[in-house]
Amino acid sequence: MVQVYFWARPALWPEYEAPLTRAFAAEGLSVTLTNDAPDPAEVDYMVYAPAKEDDDLTAFSRVKLIQSLWAGPDKLLKNPTLTQPLARMVDPGMTQGMVDYVMGHVLRHHLGTVAYEGAWTWDRVPLAPPLAQDRTVCFLGLGELGAACALKARDHGFRVIGWARSPKDLPGIDSFHGEEGLAQALAQAEILVTLLPRTPATEGLLNATRLSSCRTGVMIVNPGRGELIDDDALLAALVSGQVGAATLDVFRTEPLPADHPFWADPRVMITPHIASETRPESASRVVAANIAGVERGEPPRHLIDRARSY
Ligand code: NDP
Repeated sequence: MVQVYFWARPALWPEYEAPLTRAFAAEGLSVTLTNDAPDPAEVDYMVYAPAKEDDDLTAFSRVKLIQSLWAGPDKLLKNPTLTQPLARMVDPGMTQGMVDYVMGHVLRHHLGTVAYEGAWTWDRVPLAPPLAQDRTVCFLGLGELGAACALKARDHGFRVIGWARSPKDLPGIDSFHGEEGLAQALAQAEILVTLLPRTPATEGLLNATRLSSCRTGVMIVNPGRGELIDDDALLAALVSGQVGAATLDVFRTEPLPADHPFWADPRVMITPHIASETRPESASRVVAANIAGVERGEPPRHLIDRARSY
């Protein structure tokens, strides 16, 4: 019998209790599942999505794995008491949701529908949007989410390029890595999608210099993290026309303060950190499979590498 502690916002418990119970049973695991603060010394695994950043996890000394319900580890890594092995969420449901979000906003920018909102205008030259095959979409980050979105954009017919820390071999996608690779990728980007984690190496990545190295009028979709972009540089680039439009889902301060200039810029579409979320049914199967693997003596999947911060 293993003890699993579900530690998250209380509202999540009713959504997860039944799917997790079913998923543990399907894995043949004998589990005591609770959300009711158990004796820390008796907890074997934690399913974790903290309501606050300063939970004290020191006493959970027996925990073999903390399985986060979040894809992004940045907030969790700020907690110095979280020293146990930490797995991020890789959930097929979340991935599908992100593909939907990214394709929706890439297509919106590609079609230029912003120009027609609220007015009958034939002023645009050329009037019809280019074909997808004549549009270059660049993905910064080719991990679980970035690669899935890039492949879908490729399948739609876009010319797709991407950039990651390590070399990639994704069929039909020109992939770059390293600082030199970033310059090559940005120089071609017409629509730029940022699906990087927030780490010391990615913070402020899209600064004034890098934005100016993109093609004039580049359109940005950022469901990654607010910290990837220098807000002031983006606002200046929107004013100058260097950036044509942006869809932003994530921000340095969330909720985005009411007086933030992004709200007032008609070229910016704001969504409130809803690009995608973990889906209880599919995520529960992921959690159960990971715990079952560890119980069989396998290494945990999707472990956060603390040296890389993702
Ligand atoms: P992964 O860890 O699977 O992928 C991260 C990608 O970023 C990898 O391709 C990695 O390169 C690349 N990368 C990391 N650091 C660097 C660097 N310094 N230079 C170049 N490339 C780098 O993460 P996911 O795809 O699952 O998620 C990405 C992010 O999306 C999350 O961290 C989170 O911030 C955000 N997110 C946002 C959501 C929302 O609703 N807005 C929902 C879910 C996630 P390599 O492949 O070489 O390791």
